[in-house]
Amino acid sequence: MKQIEEYVRSIEDFPEEGIIFRDVTSVLQDADGLHLAIDLMQEKLKELDFDIVVGPESRGFIFGVPIAYNLHKPFVPIRKKGKLPCETIGIKYDLEYGSAELEMHRDAIKPGQKVVIIDDLIATGGTNEAMVKLVEGLGGVVVKAVFLMELAGLKGRERLKGYDVESVICYP
Ligand code: IMP
Repeated sequence: MKQIEEYVRSIEDFPEEGIIFRDVTSVLQDADGLHLAIDLMQEKLKELDFDIVVGPESRGFIFGVPIAYNLHKPFVPIRKKGKLPCETIGIKYDLEYGSAELEMHRDAIKPGQKVVIIDDLIATGGTNEAMVKLVEGLGGVVVKAVFLMELAGLKGRERLKGYDVESVICYP
């Protein structure tokens, strides 16, 4: 059986020169790769006591929903600004180039609820830090963040000191 790393296609110089892009579509388009990715991420939640899975648009949905479904937990989406129809809480944060804004429904998390964040990849940690702030802004408690991939050289973990962060594949 293939290892999960073998399903990830790496593309040099994308989206710009000097960057190695880790492509998750090559994992998803293989039935065994998809199973393995979900199973290995889910294993990180074994015996963890939590209430809600939260995941960002769009690749956080791909991994967050099957994990929530398998563990019989609710899934709460974090979306780009302007997409959610009810009252929201929002956060603006800096990207490597420019900025982004994420939103979440205000009634999606109740104070004290234990939240797990799921996404495909952690790079600088900026997106995850913004998600943590949204969850905490609603009184939720982030008990863990699980990623399929981690680009360790970008030191995302350092922005999330004090939080339980785990990844399945760690690239230097
Ligand atoms: P961060 O906010 O810098 O941690 O960036 C995380 C987001 O950037 C993730 O949600 C990814 O979707 C995206 N991203 C950054 N680098 C890559 C890559 O090499 N492959 C796929 N997605 C990436």
